[in-house]
Amino acid sequence: MGYYEFTVKTADESRDALMQRTSAAGCLGMIENEKDIIAYFRDTQGINELAENLNSFKTILRESGLDSTLSFEYVFISERDWNESWKKKFKPIDVGDIFSVLPPWEEKKSGRINLVIDPGMAFGTGHHETTKTCLMLIEKLSSGKKKESFLDVGTGTGILAIAASVIGYKYVVGVDIDPLAVDASLRNVKLNNLDNIAIREGSVSAVEGPYDFIAANLMSEILIQIAPELAPRLNRSGAALLSGMLTGQEDGVITAMENCGLRFLEKFADGRWVSVALTR
Ligand code: SAM
Repeated sequence: MGYYEFTVKTADESRDALMQRTSAAGCLGMIENEKDIIAYFRDTQGINELAENLNSFKTILRESGLDSTLSFEYVFISERDWNESWKKKFKPIDVGDIFSVLPPWEEKKSGRINLVIDPGMAFGTGHHETTKTCLMLIEKLSSGKKKESFLDVGTGTGILAIAASVIGYKYVVGVDIDPLAVDASLRNVKLNNLDNIAIREGSVSAVEGPYDFIAANLMSEILIQIAPELAPRLNRSGAALLSGMLTGQEDGVITAMENCGLRFLEKFADGRWVSVALTR
């Protein structure tokens, strides 16, 4: 018995689709690095089937109009070496001036706000540009503002909700349509000993609001789709931080949000990724 560790390289714009595909293919856990995505599967799935699945995904990417560049390599890891291999790959990371994100088996860093994250099968280890940007901007945009309530739409591992609670938001809610993300975020809330975060399965319509801060690190099409429900859930003069857009996609998202009553404040770029702040 053992596992296959796949290291997959693809274009930035195809990463989310790749992660959805690997999850659907029965991936046990994923780690996103700047250059690649590492995905683990049980060996009972058969290496030919797994490799075939990834190869055929190139066609799907091409047909969806996404960059279909994709390459991968894999190694077999015996049951005995599994924990050590998984642990070696997920390294602690400092984000901005105050946060460190680390897995539960690493020692906390003194002098920083430690966010302990066991990713399981969910997105959000702090290594992806969009998560890093959100962590830094949540802190920046909250500075000197009312910190009563915070909503994290598409919470993944719960990392943004956890950061919001730690920097002082009194009531925090994370929602996600993926039950595996709900499991992972609930586990991470416990790991960080926080008792003011509620996690719900569903999207923005699963909560009432309004909130002082709404963070949503989602793909642009989803942001546009949920604009009519997201906008009224933001408090007057609250801040909405929208991330997960690739350069060029932000105008459509801003227009959709403005049509629903929000007002554009600022745009932040990190490589090919863009985040925007709006208010109401
Ligand atoms: N918030 C984490 C972060 O910043 O790292 C995770 C963001 S991850 C890119 C997007 C998450 O949104 C995934 O966990 C996915 O399941 C979830 N999601 C996708 N569509 C959604 C929707 N319409 N409503 C709520 N969650 C959604």
